[in-house]
Amino acid sequence: MWGMIATWRMALEGVSKGAAMLEQGGDAGDAAEAAVREVEDFPYYKSVGYGGLPNEDMEVELDAAYMDGDTLDVGAVAAIRDYANPVSIARRLSREPVNSVLTGEGAERFAHKEGFERKNMLTDRAKAFYWKRKKEEETELKPYKGHDTVGVVCLDQRGKMTAATSTSGLFMKKKGRVGDSPMVGSGFYADSKVGGATATGLGEDLMKGCVSYEIVRLMKEGLHPQEACERAVGLLDRELKERRGKAGDLSVIAMNNKGEWGAATNIQGFSFVVSAEGEASKVYLAMAGEDGRCTCEEASNQWIEDYVRTRMAPVEGQG
Ligand code: ASP
Repeated sequence: MWGMIATWRMALEGVSKGAAMLEQGGDAGDAAEAAVREVEDFPYYKSVGYGGLPNEDMEVELDAAYMDGDTLDVGAVAAIRDYANPVSIARRLSREPVNSVLTGEGAERFAHKEGFERKNMLTDRAKAFYWKRKKEEETELKPYKGHDTVGVVCLDQRGKMTAATSTSGLFMKKKGRVGDSPMVGSGFYADSKVGGATATGLGEDLMKGCVSYEIVRLMKEGLHPQEACERAVGLLDRELKERRGKAGDLSVIAMNNKGEWGAATNIQGFSFVVSAEGEASKVYLAMAGEDGRCTCEEASNQWIEDYVRTRMAPVEGQG
């Protein structure tokens, strides 16, 4: 028995790669890392790795994390610049007994010492988005269309579970801003005795509910991953609206150690990818309903193709 679930359609190619590794008896850590690296390397996804959108100083600052559900080891980098695969640095850090979460310059120094690949992560395309946004003079910092952190949860044939995330965070964020993605319990959590979860959306709000840990906690109480996801998102969404008048985008995925999975969102159209033993990787679309309830349907081929086409469309002012 093995399985893998990941946020957003952009993870499809990575999940297929990771799933092939799991099918052959591969390790959940290797599969999670390989899946996320695939997304980090693809230049047209403007919210992860190479091609990710910059902060207000036009610098690409990346956040990533990794958690081993057997040992509960956690590693993370935040606001790291000029390294090709932040998820691999996070995984390497997870093996450190202390100093396993590093930010900015400290993270870069570690990556350099360990020989990780340096790369200028700012593409001409990302620069074009930057100048376009400057002209629009939009001031509110929010998840933009196609924001999207990649987050994966893996279960391997030995029962090991892992979670990993990677993101460029919010477009035009302040230098040094860190979202939920490298924060254990908020952006991700994995416990092989129970299951794992990851989140995407407005980090500032996701952190208020420690939503990934909450999902794993609910699964530990015996809830099915779908119920755990809906309950966690529904509760956080309601609390935020009651106390603050509004809630940012909140979307989550989870899998338990039996390979059962779930997803929930408070937006219309959260896509995610699932791969399980005996099945090809599939893209689903989740739609928010009442009180955290969600409907998840398989996305049509047309939808899957349109997703990539819109992401690869020329940007005004590029070149
Ligand atoms: N959660 C990420 C952040 O706030 C962004 C996202 O998932 O779209 O940095």
